[in-house]
Amino acid sequence: MELTIIGSGTGIPSKTRAYPCTLVKIKGNHLVFDTGPGSLRQLFLAGVTYLDIDHLHYTHFHPDHSLDLVSILFAMRYDTPKRTRPLFIIGPTGLQAFYEGLLSVFGETIKPKTFDLHFKEIENGEMAFDDWKIIVEPLQHSIHSIGYRIESLEGKTLTYSGDTGYCDGILRLAKKVNTLVLECSFPDDQKVDGHLTPRLCAQIANESQCGRLVLSHFYPVCDTFRKNNKHLPDTLKGIYKGEILFAEDFARITL
Ligand SMILES: [Zn+2]
Ligand SMILES: [Zn+2]
Repeated sequence: MELTIIGSGTGIPSKTRAYPCTLVKIKGNHLVFDTGPGSLRQLFLAGVTYLDIDHLHYTHFHPDHSLDLVSILFAMRYDTPKRTRPLFIIGPTGLQAFYEGLLSVFGETIKPKTFDLHFKEIENGEMAFDDWKIIVEPLQHSIHSIGYRIESLEGKTLTYSGDTGYCDGILRLAKKVNTLVLECSFPDDQKVDGHLTPRLCAQIANESQCGRLVLSHFYPVCDTFRKNNKHLPDTLKGIYKGEILFAEDFARITL
């Protein structure tokens, strides 16, 4: 299993961080989690095209996590060579309605002509595929927000939070996972409801006993906080003893 952080930023423009998008490769399958604006191009820069994507997953439908679904479907319709493999789109309750809404705006331009589109809404529970399974839990963010745990047949495990506050759902998804990717939106003294801070991330990593913590989804204010707080890594190590990585765009980790 290989993890690539495609976009480590948020809905606020940053010179160094693209909008949220994460790629997981398992045995040649490309699983994409969230596609904020510009993700199609970011994926392309990472060597992944509209032909390669197997499963698209959404954690919630805030525009910064979902807007490039439009660009992806548009490219799949008009670019050549044509995509013929089916595309699976997985997301929380409201996924189908979200697509219907996009259709009412963009019409035929995002309707596939050469392949089948399959939607699967999931609120919690498991879905098994040939080489992996996903486990989903509701998280504390917007209505119907979910997070994902991916387990390969070889027993490698990865959790991706999307946006969330501290909640039981993320603890269950993260329990003893190999690699835990958490959103780390705001500094500890500027906590916003439905989002995490560096200390909360370390706390979740410690309580879940994960093997490695990857922090991503940094608002610019959190980057500034990190820059001005050189002791932050030591502070976090005091809470969680495992490996802690601060994600950059295109950071790649083999599990
Ligand atoms: Zn959000
Ligand atoms: Zn977000």
